[in-house]
Amino acid sequence: MICPHCNVGVKFQFQRVFLKAHTNDEAWAADADRCPECRKVVINLVSGHPTFSNGVPAMFSTTVLNTRVWPKRETVFCPVDVPEEIAKDFTEACNVLPISAQASAALSRRCLQHVLVSYGGATGGDLQKQIENFISAKNPPSYIAEQLHAVRQIGNFAAHPQKDTVTGEILPVEPGEAEWNIEILQSIFDFQFVKPAQQAKRIKEFNEKLKAAGKPQLI
Ligand SMILES: [Zn+2]
Repeated sequence: MICPHCNVGVKFQFQRVFLKAHTNDEAWAADADRCPECRKVVINLVSGHPTFSNGVPAMFSTTVLNTRVWPKRETVFCPVDVPEEIAKDFTEACNVLPISAQASAALSRRCLQHVLVSYGGATGGDLQKQIENFISAKNPPSYIAEQLHAVRQIGNFAAHPQKDTVTGEILPVEPGEAEWNIEILQSIFDFQFVKPAQQAKRIKEFNEKLKAAGKPQLI
């Protein structure tokens, strides 16, 4: 199965511990193992009809429920090329989304501003100007430019001007705004961090081959 922590396909060998709360026709157990890849724990809660050995549940003859209780949700995968301080806000924006769209949107707005200003060369006092600066300075693909412009529109910044200026503030959100912000961040990460890192790796590998062949290197 796919490890919910590290997203790698691994073979879990769950150890089952029966819980003491059981009747003749209902038992509960916890299945636990560590991922052989990332060493983090995965725990499933299982219930069903038990078969007994020496008066205690030993097996399930039929299973009624088998649900993961740890980790509570899928881990959000932020590409490794994304700088740590950006990845932290992004991951938190994703994790908090099921609980609070307002908190998630505040984090993702702040994260977006951080990427544009610290890595995208954007200037300007508010998010709108930073978006415009980023688009003219970096000339991203049109779908990214359109997504960026839509951040303002979907978030109804006209009604909530603080979203533009105090990006980390918890403010009312429009339907779909928090999810949209996360999607645009994923597109920007790909453009700003992932693709350049892939390109640099390819050139490095190619240069090593050229060097081994005694040929001039790519610049
Ligand atoms: Zn794992």
